[in-house]
Amino acid sequence: MHANSSPATQQVRIDLGERSYPINIAAGLLGDPATYQNLPAASTALVVTNAVVAPLYADALRNALQPHYKRVLLVVLPDGEVHKDWPTLQLIFDALLENGCDRKTVLFALGGGVVGDMTGFAAACYMRGVPFVQVPTTLLAQVDSSVGGKTAINHPLGKNMVGAFYQPERVICDLDVLQSLPSRELSAGLAEIIKYGPIADMGFFGWIEDNIGALLARDPAALAHAIRRSCEIKAHVVGQDERENGLRAILNFGHTFGHAIESGLGYGRWLHGEGVGCGMVMAARLSQRLGLVDDAFVERLRALIQRAGLPVTGPRLSPEDSAGRYLALMRVDKKAEAGEIKFVVIAAPGSAMVRSAPDALVREVIDASCD
Ligand code: NAD
Ligand code: MG
Repeated sequence: MHANSSPATQQVRIDLGERSYPINIAAGLLGDPATYQNLPAASTALVVTNAVVAPLYADALRNALQPHYKRVLLVVLPDGEVHKDWPTLQLIFDALLENGCDRKTVLFALGGGVVGDMTGFAAACYMRGVPFVQVPTTLLAQVDSSVGGKTAINHPLGKNMVGAFYQPERVICDLDVLQSLPSRELSAGLAEIIKYGPIADMGFFGWIEDNIGALLARDPAALAHAIRRSCEIKAHVVGQDERENGLRAILNFGHTFGHAIESGLGYGRWLHGEGVGCGMVMAARLSQRLGLVDDAFVERLRALIQRAGLPVTGPRLSPEDSAGRYLALMRVDKKAEAGEIKFVVIAAPGSAMVRSAPDALVREVIDASCD
């Protein structure tokens, strides 16, 4: 295949019984009316997007939806994680009710993970549930947040603390929209792609090592493969544990340390994927200290994360006792149980497990991984 040639549509199915749905991956999907065939019949579609994405892609989506619906409405939310909150969620309900939208109305989430999580939550709540479609426009949303049915908004006391499990009808990953993504956001998405290697598939990890240049250059064929394989792995995990009673937690590899960095610095300083990138290096070091993997594995992971344009050295979170601050933040993580921190560690390259670790060992890892 030539570099930059557009690959044909790839499809991954999420198998959840009557809640099953396809993820379609290809260039040019967004503006193609065929993409939206066979969705639940309705008179009205509501496109939910934000102020950054609307001027780029809202017209293309609305035009493609016109043949399928009598009315195609649009609501434009303010951009940013700080707006993943109640007042902004209310704007979606306002649009639905002011326009007399019935319980068949189909919601379309056009944007990154913030728009996707909020639109999904609104769809779960409006009239106790209306259908929705994910049209993810960031790499992170295409490989992670749009797949699996977790929806939420933030509370001032915690991220994603108010939400629901609610599956979309379909996920539409158009590779073309990734061309306008800021490079920092592209790298943040790569962190979640790299994550799938150590937890599930070292063959895929090797492929990413060989193709990181093409991915950073946004080559459509390379992106299509990376997105498909990531979605397959996530689909496989979610298919076995839809509501995170166990296995699904391995998808949080790197996230316990990463969340501590994100919240310790104040949300918005580091992107989520940046925290996950650095957090994976820390979690791999912890796995090594626990005797599960060797130094060479840690170094291999660190090197790829660095090549992806992600930070591999953690920030100090306090001038006196930085490791203590990390530990305190990790103890309030959603996964912590009765104050005991649960880490996703690599049991062996390509497989993960959840376990606790002695504070002293975690301190060593943090001290070895930070400035
Ligand atoms: P985001 O939605 O904030 O998007 C990042 C930035 O890119 C925003 O400014 C956005 O407006 C802009 N943008 C989006 N698409 C663009 C495009 N094509 N071109 C140019 N700019 C574009 O962030 P994100 O990284 O996509 O998602 C993060 C959110 O996802 C967090 O709220 C996180 O909690 C959530 N999340 C949810 C799950 C889940 O399972 N539901 C999983 C991972 C993350
Ligand atoms: Mg994540």
